[in-house]
Amino acid sequence: MTEPRKTRVVIAGGGTAGWLAAAVLTRQLGSLLDITLVESEEIGTVGVGESTIPTVRSFHALMGVDEAEFMRTTGATFKLGISFEGWTRPGDRYIHSFGDVGKSTWMGDFQHFWLEAKDRGIAGDLGDYCFEHQAAAQGRFATGPESRINYAYHLDAGRYARYLRGRSEAAGLVRREGRIERVERDPETGLIAALILADQQRIDGDLFLDCTGFRSLLIGEAMGVGFEDWGHWLPTNRALAVQTTSTGPAVPYTRAITHDAGWRWRIPLQHRVGNGLVYASDFLSDDEARARLLASIEGDRLIEPGLIRFRTGRRLKAWEGNCVALSLASGFVEPLESTSIHLIMTALTRLMQAFPFDGISPAVVARYNDQSRAELEGIRDFIILHYHLNEREEPFWQRQREMEVPETLKARLALFAEGAQAYQAQDDLFRVASWLQVLVGQGMQPRQYHHMARLMPDAALAGALGDLKRNIDKAVAALPTHEAFLDRYCRERQPAQAA
Ligand code: FAD
Repeated sequence: MTEPRKTRVVIAGGGTAGWLAAAVLTRQLGSLLDITLVESEEIGTVGVGESTIPTVRSFHALMGVDEAEFMRTTGATFKLGISFEGWTRPGDRYIHSFGDVGKSTWMGDFQHFWLEAKDRGIAGDLGDYCFEHQAAAQGRFATGPESRINYAYHLDAGRYARYLRGRSEAAGLVRREGRIERVERDPETGLIAALILADQQRIDGDLFLDCTGFRSLLIGEAMGVGFEDWGHWLPTNRALAVQTTSTGPAVPYTRAITHDAGWRWRIPLQHRVGNGLVYASDFLSDDEARARLLASIEGDRLIEPGLIRFRTGRRLKAWEGNCVALSLASGFVEPLESTSIHLIMTALTRLMQAFPFDGISPAVVARYNDQSRAELEGIRDFIILHYHLNEREEPFWQRQREMEVPETLKARLALFAEGAQAYQAQDDLFRVASWLQVLVGQGMQPRQYHHMARLMPDAALAGALGDLKRNIDKAVAALPTHEAFLDRYCRERQPAQAA
């Protein structure tokens, strides 16, 4: 009996998207596929994308990643959320943590109890009732088989790609070095037949994954799939990124700190810190942005600041014909909630679930595209929320406050403003606890909430909240510091020890 022909998968691009695709496909479907990845060292990668969200852990499990080894190799640290600084007005701060907040009942979520207690003057801050929030704020962390702490990682993008490459090549993936010069399409079907490299190497395939970043060489240039621009809602379009030496203990959260025309990030790794300034070029020049970034960094600069131009929005189809675009090639919502690597992972999961072994099915493609659109729109709305609910006076922020937001977000804002309700729809990434933390953090005060908590006398309500807080405080106090846990669990070996 002859073996069935393997499906030839060609991955164009070797950034985080390309190497994640390579690593998971070799691991999960390897013996059914013949996988080639082509990348160009001369072009390089976008070089950012170092903050993740907790879903990364289940995807790593799919890839068989050993957490401590991965963290040691990539210099990763733990992340419990994002500290938003100055987002309502200069000087304020809230944490959007990965944890659940308080306890909910079948009748309503925790915020209804909390709002009632606040009105009676017997509630603490919302973050008092969230374990991950408190652990982040106090710089504490531990995980283990029994632990239920919800966390993600900060990682070094360059090392991560190399780590994934090592695993993929060990599993049989073929890597080709070279610049893709041309995409050859079948004149009859319109499907991509091959990639032609600058040295005239030809790479034939059945399925092509476009991981060429913002260039979008396959789905955008070759297949001509249009782009829906979201710049009117999310006008930041540039970032300057620079790496610095660490100056203190790594905090277990990303910092997102506003400035008058956008925000900047600070991502602590074991061996360095990633810094970047995101801004809208209509409101800030590149020179001013550079000066602002350099004035804000701590530690010694390890590289020159690199400028990245981007456009927020999405390809109208992430899958067209035999081409599936991942990550930046398929769209970008700006990095505020660190969602792009997650989106690579959900896209790959969907692709593996609907893998076109026997040819392309229009129905499968339509469903895939619909889910991708809904997923990205949900994230877009969540990010717009951070910009829109602000009380800042600078022109950039005024514009964000006064703009018309998407109808979908408008409805969510009204729901919370009028009845303190938040929800997670089927394709939504963000849970109720996330919406709650950001809506409250951005200063939204609901006009009404459910009356169930009125059934509780002051002592009972204060007692219930007090118990929650005491339990959280006790559990957090029992954790080691984040640094101490890194030392014990996955500290990168110093060169002298590594030999
Ligand atoms: P790239 O890294 O650009 O890789 C493209 C690949 O295609 C490269 O290997 C390149 O050499 C290759 N290529 C391109 N053209 C050719 C050609 N002609 N021939 C051969 N090869 C070619 N995401 C997060 O999850 N968290 C974050 O904190 C985060 N922060 C970000 C901050 C900024 C400012 C930006 C812009 C993005 C951020 N992202 C973040 C997104 C994240 O960086 C990307 O999702 C991730 O790096 C994947 O990028 P990529 O692989 O699609 O593209």
